[in-house]
Amino acid sequence: MDRGKRNFLKIAGLTGVGAYVGLKGVQAIGNKGTKAKKKLALVIDTRKCKGDCPDCITACHREHNVAERHNPNFKGPGPKAAQGIKWIWVSTFAGAFHEQIHERTGKRKEPVVVLCNHCDDPPCTRVCPTGATWKRKEDGIVTIDMHRCIGCRFCMAACPYGSRSFNFSDPRRSLKAVKPGFPTRTTGVVEKCNFCVERLGEGLLPACVTACTKKAMHFGDLNDKNSPASKALMGVHSITRKPILGTGPEVYYVL
Ligand code: SF4
Ligand code: SF4
Repeated sequence: MDRGKRNFLKIAGLTGVGAYVGLKGVQAIGNKGTKAKKKLALVIDTRKCKGDCPDCITACHREHNVAERHNPNFKGPGPKAAQGIKWIWVSTFAGAFHEQIHERTGKRKEPVVVLCNHCDDPPCTRVCPTGATWKRKEDGIVTIDMHRCIGCRFCMAACPYGSRSFNFSDPRRSLKAVKPGFPTRTTGVVEKCNFCVERLGEGLLPACVTACTKKAMHFGDLNDKNSPASKALMGVHSITRKPILGTGPEVYYVL
């Protein structure tokens, strides 16, 4: 880590109060949520997906060289589980939608697949002091430039969905195989789902959507009424996570 990064982290991490003040302070200079031309969205049909197969997770994590969820090489402080890196994972229904459950949904046993929501108005991008994460104007994808990430983890604190992971130790050590063409990460950077932006550029669908054998995932531009995502939402009841926060999640769940 270079001296600039070290100094910044020292200053930001001095006290809890210091970190709080830092968070408030950087809001003024961080990126603001922007209205994107395209509104890329992922629709997960929970009538078909019961969160009981690993296909989407395996495909995503292989595609993006995501380290094993529980890093066996981790030797630092804190629980091992906290070292897990995840782009897409499963949560209990009540955990994902705890403010929306009622007598019937509360009894739902099946887990649901969760990931970064590529929010319309993402709080994570506003707090980044280096502009390393932002919402793309052209398609609404919330992206990260890992070279500019200084590992302050303000974005992780700001995300109300736990969608970002931090590399406490070298993720390359727990990779069984490296997929050429997608960058591996280093210690001290944050990562998360990128809506497979690199695949979209090649005219492909996100890896999770392609891997889903139950055809429960639909991806596309909600500004285009003929896109698979728009069609999947038509005439059905769908919900998003924590709508009360006003972040405008672009991952929808059909019930
Ligand atoms: S889910 Fe979290 S990380 Fe993803 S865009 Fe929303 S606030 Fe940011
Ligand atoms: S859209 Fe791509 S990066 Fe995001 S969860 Fe699916 S496979 Fe992973």
